[in-house]
Amino acid sequence: SSAPYIEQLRKQFPILQQQVNQHPLVYLDNAATTQKPQSVIDAICDYYQTSNANVHRASHALSNQATGLFEASRLKVQHFLNAHYSEEIIWTKGTTEGINLIANVMSAQLQAGDEIIISAVEHHANIVPWQMVAQRTGAVLKVIPLTAEFTLDIDAFKTLLSERTKIVSITHVSNALGIVNPIQTMIALAHQFDAKVIIDGAQAVAHIDVDVQALDCDFYLFSGHKIFGPTGIGVLYGKKALLEALPPWQGGGEMIDTVTFTKATYNQLPFKFEAGTPNIAGAIGLGVALDFVNGLDLARCHQHERQLINFTQQALMQIPDVTVFASETQKSGAISFVVKGEHNSDIAMLLDAQGIAVRSGTHCAMPLMSSLQCNGTIRASFSIYNTLEEAAAFITALKNVILMLQE
Ligand code: PMP
Repeated sequence: SSAPYIEQLRKQFPILQQQVNQHPLVYLDNAATTQKPQSVIDAICDYYQTSNANVHRASHALSNQATGLFEASRLKVQHFLNAHYSEEIIWTKGTTEGINLIANVMSAQLQAGDEIIISAVEHHANIVPWQMVAQRTGAVLKVIPLTAEFTLDIDAFKTLLSERTKIVSITHVSNALGIVNPIQTMIALAHQFDAKVIIDGAQAVAHIDVDVQALDCDFYLFSGHKIFGPTGIGVLYGKKALLEALPPWQGGGEMIDTVTFTKATYNQLPFKFEAGTPNIAGAIGLGVALDFVNGLDLARCHQHERQLINFTQQALMQIPDVTVFASETQKSGAISFVVKGEHNSDIAMLLDAQGIAVRSGTHCAMPLMSSLQCNGTIRASFSIYNTLEEAAAFITALKNVILMLQE
């Protein structure tokens, strides 16, 4: 059994040891953000206690130390994604900022009538920036619909693709339903039309091994806080030749080579896309989070997460009046469901009273909710430190909540 291994892991997450509303905390909101191991918390604290200085700017010892730690973290991310060059790793605030960055710089290459394809399951972060770009450029936004099984309709995707398609931007894993999209196939299909493919990896990195070279995606994004790292730091990976050909986004310090009052020349990659003082402590913390991931028995962790998903979904499907979206075999990390006749936020509040943290609502995916014809779902999302006992406690509490509401 993996139970002793998981218990060991759990001990590294101090926040999980607490009581919430007089009950042991059962944290099932990992798709929103993961908790942080002690090593990440310590790294951030150590950085401010021993190495804090601005990076890349001064030739004093502390600045060199900070720069060394900061750039070492970039190499850890390069290794984690299996990127070919470290200059392909651009620091951002998170997935949202990364998509805004790439949407803005790519808009320079778009003309009226060009097409951008996204999918029915996208997070608002992968919808709204493209709508803004479409409004500015006259490009047209197309949406891959869902099948009856809540998977992306790949046949429909094939018919949407054409010479007009310039950009395909899709999520690796749906945050609202937990479904894993067949991105490898979709990337190859899009490349037949020379479209550039952007993958939103926010929900994938903590659950699926990502190899950007094997995927052959053009851009890949994620947020540090969803993989045991701090908030306010994220990553945009882009193929070097593509990034080199794109204009910068924000202007300021660090991103320039020379500046006069009439013009500026830009710095080389990755700095061209990193205007201003970056989140240095965040980048270092994310590097330590990736060290933590590298130290895991990943096969065991993946198998454990699969058990959590299978157990929870099977148990949910046996509760009368509960409808679970999508089959568990397609899922990674999250399960979304509704309870007939009850509002999702009432259920979540009553679960919280028993120490159980789940998410309710539209999960930043309002267009998806309207296609599911519901005003929101309840989402339980898992991480490696969740136990089968916690999953069982969640099911017992949910049954009680439903009985209580139906009385
Ligand atoms: N895309 C997906 C699929 C997400 O789940 C999230 C976070 N909920 C985001 C984008 C946005 O990430 P962030 O808020 O960290 O920028």
